[in-house]
Amino acid sequence: MRIAHVWMEHARLNQTFTYDCRSFDVQAGMRVSVGFGNQTLVAFVDHVEVIQDRFAYEQECGYQLKSILNVIDVEPIFNSELMDLGKWMAYQTLSTVISCYQAMLPNKLKPKSSSGNIKKDIFVHFVKDVEGLTKKQIELLDMCRNGDVLRKDMRSVSISAFKNLLLSGAICLVEKEVEAKVGVFEQLEKPLALTAYQQKAFDEVCASDAICLLHGITGSGKTEIYLQLADKVIRNHEQVLILVPEISLTPQMVKRVQRRFGHQVAIYHSGLNDQEKYEQYQRVRKNEVSIVVGTRSSIFMPFSNLGLIIVDEEHDASYKQDSVPRYHCRDIAIERAKYHGAKLVLGSATPSLESYARALKGVYHLVSLTRRVYGDLPTCEIVDMSKEMRKGNDIISSTLYQSLKECLANGKQAILLLNRRGYTPILRCTECAHVMKCPHCDVALSYHKDDHVLKCHICGESFSANPICPSCHSKSWRFLGVGTQRLEEEVQRLFPQARILRMDADVSRKKGAHEKVLSAFERQEADILVGTQMISKGLDYPNVTLVGILQADALLSHSDYRCVEITFDYLVQASGRSGRGTDEGKVILQAYDASHYVMHTASKQDYVAFFRQEMQYRHLGQYPPYSYFVSIVVSSLEQNVVSQEAFEIKSWFVDKGISVLGPSELLKKQDLYRYRVLLRSKNLEDMRQWVHMWYASYPNRKVKVAIDVNPLFLD
Ligand code: ADP
Ligand code: ZN
Ligand code: ZN
Repeated sequence: MRIAHVWMEHARLNQTFTYDCRSFDVQAGMRVSVGFGNQTLVAFVDHVEVIQDRFAYEQECGYQLKSILNVIDVEPIFNSELMDLGKWMAYQTLSTVISCYQAMLPNKLKPKSSSGNIKKDIFVHFVKDVEGLTKKQIELLDMCRNGDVLRKDMRSVSISAFKNLLLSGAICLVEKEVEAKVGVFEQLEKPLALTAYQQKAFDEVCASDAICLLHGITGSGKTEIYLQLADKVIRNHEQVLILVPEISLTPQMVKRVQRRFGHQVAIYHSGLNDQEKYEQYQRVRKNEVSIVVGTRSSIFMPFSNLGLIIVDEEHDASYKQDSVPRYHCRDIAIERAKYHGAKLVLGSATPSLESYARALKGVYHLVSLTRRVYGDLPTCEIVDMSKEMRKGNDIISSTLYQSLKECLANGKQAILLLNRRGYTPILRCTECAHVMKCPHCDVALSYHKDDHVLKCHICGESFSANPICPSCHSKSWRFLGVGTQRLEEEVQRLFPQARILRMDADVSRKKGAHEKVLSAFERQEADILVGTQMISKGLDYPNVTLVGILQADALLSHSDYRCVEITFDYLVQASGRSGRGTDEGKVILQAYDASHYVMHTASKQDYVAFFRQEMQYRHLGQYPPYSYFVSIVVSSLEQNVVSQEAFEIKSWFVDKGISVLGPSELLKKQDLYRYRVLLRSKNLEDMRQWVHMWYASYPNRKVKVAIDVNPLFLD
């Protein structure tokens, strides 16, 4: 008799269960519904096995074999590559196999009870010619003679003729899945002639068998190289995947790929609804597209013949998923490229230290682009804000003011960046100096003038903007600090004639607003764009000749060991928006810690100098990439329970000879007290096995546990 080994949808334990499946046609990689306890659950078939003796089998596994209730899929939704990939990922990230399968599939196909239905439409199908039709009826019948047409399209021509045809048996109705609408692309753009530098890089990538790290300064024309690599692979009848950090942040990349390759492209990102995602996924599965441009989760697309994967902005933190399974898209890309024998290109102006270190060691092949396509890098000036403060300029320095004035006088555009949304980030009581904090999280509330509320940027909750001080009952407050809303107001005050647009999470929350603001700026309907780091990367506006970065050192005060690297990336990417056309660009960095090496290296866009300095510091502290981290965060509503737990975890690992940092108390988040235990080792594989062993034997379920292998953020 045939039995199926299945992964259950809500499994806490990482194991399969067995069901009798002899009355169904099931295969590995299909979803089924099964009874579990007294519920009906969705499960995912791992494999099917034939057993001889049911009784002996039941004795061995300790339960009676129930029959599966129903098969959900007509054919497997995963092939063996993806089945194996999910298991590999579960092991790598210390999560359950089912959570990986769920993460790998679009919502409508997830092995979950909550995955919605797939949208279907009714079509008219040609059956046969019949005698005695009217002219109108023949006209309708001809509509579907060479392929099914939508019922509503035929009915819109003539309802009565349609009904009569149906009665006569000439046509019948069939239900089919809705297919993706594909845009019309008439005039496709031709490839550009590569510059000598681009050509050299292109040839090097083609000639290398290894993973390539394409390190090219901002504006060096990496995208054109990607497009030409893609073209070459498609001509060879293989598929291409271009990964981008966040589609909404890189709208231009999508447009450029579409203009080059038209309907051969599928776009896949979080802005699509479930049905749209499903449709794009099916297009790839049916081999209807040759290129996918997408964010993190498109690494799991069902390619059958992948020839090239490009990870653009490979250093970007959005490639790491911050919920279970905590995978890094780059790791998955390496694994899939290996399976398909595909070329893998990691591109960035500011590679992650880890990737660059690997390239220097020869694990990756390093390809460098050190010239811009047009002109030179922008000139950059660092302004010491402590001096400016004494002059009374606490928001816009005199240098930035002058540069803005010139920029506007020349009819050029400027971008001003401040990594803090809202109006003011701090509200302090004038009587007792109490700072208003979120009652659920350990952070100060920001005042948002637009909606006149106080907001918590961690949990998102809003509070009255006229609070009573909880410690002295006063109602008089001082607004401290600057957010983007206040910056916009200040710039408008200084330049009353300027047309200003603002772009931050508050603006982009409204559907379509993001696109609207950026394209208005692109059409030069505004002179100044004010925003957070949302506008620091990917934008290519040739008319922008000035970029001002306010509080350029704000991130340095974080305790995270990566804060300098993150600052460098941000400053270089943001500076890279200036002077991308034929006009010379300028960048002004405003900072209090103006002499920090990150300011100097970023102002020259000197990645290599930054890398050397930063690696020394990482070496001293034995931080990654000199070691590996695994983070274990425990959380609970009760502080003493969770702190005690953290210390017990620490001693478990210390006993096994693993170096442990912490436990350190993290900010309270949504009423949960949180502690982090950080494991460190030079041998990741070894450490991973210890964590597997610890977790399997972990008896205490009083606290929530989150495990993160190679964590990107430690705050
Ligand atoms: P990067 O991705 O490295 O920051 P881009 O690919 O955006 O750089 O290129 C910068 C600008 O140069 C873009 O406007 C692009 O259209 C243009 N460009 C790139 N390659 C060429 C080329 N070979 N000839 C002419 N223009 C080019
Ligand atoms: Zn007070
Ligand atoms: Zn909060």
